[in-house]
Order: sequence, then structure tokens, then C-alpha cells
Amino acid sequence: MSGRFLVTGGAGFVGSHLVATLIARGDDCVVLDNFRIGHRAAILPGAEAADIDLADRVAVDRIVAAGPWDAVFHFAGLSLVAESMRDPFRYLGENFGHGLTLIEACVRHGVDRFVLSSTAALFGRPTTPRLDETTPIDPVSPYGESKWLLERALVWADRVHGLRSATLRYFNAAGSDPAGRLGEDHQPETHLMPLAIDTALGRRPEFVVFGGDYDTPDGTCIRDYVHVSDLADAHLRAFRQLDRGSVAYNVGIGAGASVLDVIRSVERVSGRKVRYRVADRRPGDPAVLVADPGKIMRETGWSPRFTALDDIVRTAFDWRAAHPNGYESALTNAASPV
Ligand code: UDP
Repeated sequence: MSGRFLVTGGAGFVGSHLVATLIARGDDCVVLDNFRIGHRAAILPGAEAADIDLADRVAVDRIVAAGPWDAVFHFAGLSLVAESMRDPFRYLGENFGHGLTLIEACVRHGVDRFVLSSTAALFGRPTTPRLDETTPIDPVSPYGESKWLLERALVWADRVHGLRSATLRYFNAAGSDPAGRLGEDHQPETHLMPLAIDTALGRRPEFVVFGGDYDTPDGTCIRDYVHVSDLADAHLRAFRQLDRGSVAYNVGIGAGASVLDVIRSVERVSGRKVRYRVADRRPGDPAVLVADPGKIMRETGWSPRFTALDDIVRTAFDWRAAHPNGYESALTNAASPV
């Protein structure tokens, strides 16, 4: 059965892939985005765009009132660990404050299903090799803290107002739409996979590895890279699970790759060298973040389609190779005469 959904940040990396999944099901989708980080070209035909900043409480109230919505999916926000270490109050203020504005509007207008894009960054310094939902929460960055505050707000929204929520703590979203319509494009780009790919493609002189002295087998940080289309599927399954009550899930593939593993994978997929040098650690980065996705798999039947690092890298590589200027290329191509 199709539904009607409001997706904040639906023009961003993960949000746009969820919108693609919803449209493919025949759902109605309204994308709320201020287009500062998101891209208009990332909204696929079939979805409607609402040019709204979450700081604008009146506009947020108006669009939430224009329901009924089967659910609100909330992706909009700032998401860079390092930036949050430089500008903590902006992260705490915007991510928490804007999220609260949205949650309050949902409560006011009778929305009873909410799905939050949360993060593994709220676990801080893990004590077990793989993190499940019982792992103690102790964010080591204001970014992680801002998402944790939102999770807590949702707990109270449920207890007091009956707003059911699913919070998805994802590990490292990576790859891109296998059909090649969507990709990862941040301005400026700070993420490992796109930067390593751009280095392979000769668009950057070298890749800088942040820290080679971590307590890991090769000294570089280990992360759990989960394909963005698998993440989109996880959102949909978590939404369906809300019929039984609020939930929190860790979403990753359950296996880690080091920074050097990713560099080697990019070299295999591209057939080119990635020049790199090892520099200082980046503040706020834990050594290892790997999910135990057992709970979401058991309860929702979710299972990642992409489990091989090279397959994930390949989808990211194909899109970046075809879009030298990210979504700007798409606009330029669309605007140029045939
Ligand atoms: N990283 C790196 N060099 C870069 C960007 C990232 O060594 O130019 C490392 C970073 O320290 C982390 C991993 O790659 O261990 C993934 O970082 P990314 O920024 O992609 O995602 P995050 O883990 O911050 O969500």
C-alpha cells in the first residue's frame, strides 16, 4: 500500500536515496530542504520539493499541517564530526533546535510516525568489537551529542504524546544508487570514499590519511561502510516496524574496513594508484566503529545487498567518474543543447 511522506533533507546524500526507494514503490513524497547542502538535481522526478529552512518555524508548521503524513523522515542537519569539534554550539543548536521544531510540529498536527537519521557517532569510544543497541552511549563529538539529544526528545515525544519513532544509528553511508541517478556530492567534500576516488581520477594530487597510529592492525581508523541504498531500505523497514512501537537500530554491514583498505579497494576498482600520505589524527574520530546489525536484521528482515567493499566502491566510483563536478555536471548536461 502506498503512502505519503515528508522527507527533510531529502535532497541530501542518504535522504535522496530514500526518496528514490519511496518513489519506486509509488509513494507520494515531499522533500523539505533548504538546498544549502542538498542538491535540486538529487530530487528525482515524481517527488515534490518544498524549499524550506527548518529554522523557519512558521513554514515548518505550515508544511507539517498540510498532511496527512504516514511518516516524517528527518535527515536534514549538519553531519560533519570535525566541523562539530570546531563549532560545537552551532551543531548542538541547529541539529537539536531544528529537530525539536519539527518534532513539536508533528505532535501539534497529529503525525504519529517519525524516522530519525541518527549516527554511530553517539557511541564514542567503544569497548566491544561490534556495537549493538546496548552499547553505552557516550558521544565524543558535538555532532554525536546533537543526535543523541534528538533521540531523547523522541523518547519523550512518544511517552507524553504517543509519537512513535525509529532512530537509525548508521555507521558510514557509502556508495551510490546502482542505477547511476544519484551520488555523493558534498561541497566541500570531506568524506573518505569520494576523496580517495577523486585522487584516483587525478582530480586531487594526494589523499591525506588522518592518523596512522591508531590501535588497529594497520594503524588507520576502521569503519563499517554500508551502502546508501541498503540504508534507504533500512529506513523503510524501520518505518513498518513502528506498528509495534518505537525502535532504535544500529545499521551497518557488521564488518569493518580501515582507511588503507578503502584506498586499496579504490585502486582495484579504478585500476589506478591513489597517492596518499599519513598525517595527524582528526579530532573526534574514534579508532573503530563497526555495527552489530543483528537487531534490525532479526526484527525487520533487513539484510544488506552490498557486503563486499569493492562493490560499494564501484557504485561510488561510477557516479563520480561520470559526474566530474558532482550534481553541477547533471545540471550542465541537462541545460546544454543536444
Ligand atoms: N579520513 C581520512 N582522510 C580524509 C577523510 C576521512 O583519513 O580525507 C578517515 C577519517 O579519519 C575516518 C574515515 O576516513 O576514520 C571515515 O571518515 P569520513 O569523514 O568519510 O566519515 P565519518 O567517519 O567522519 O562519518
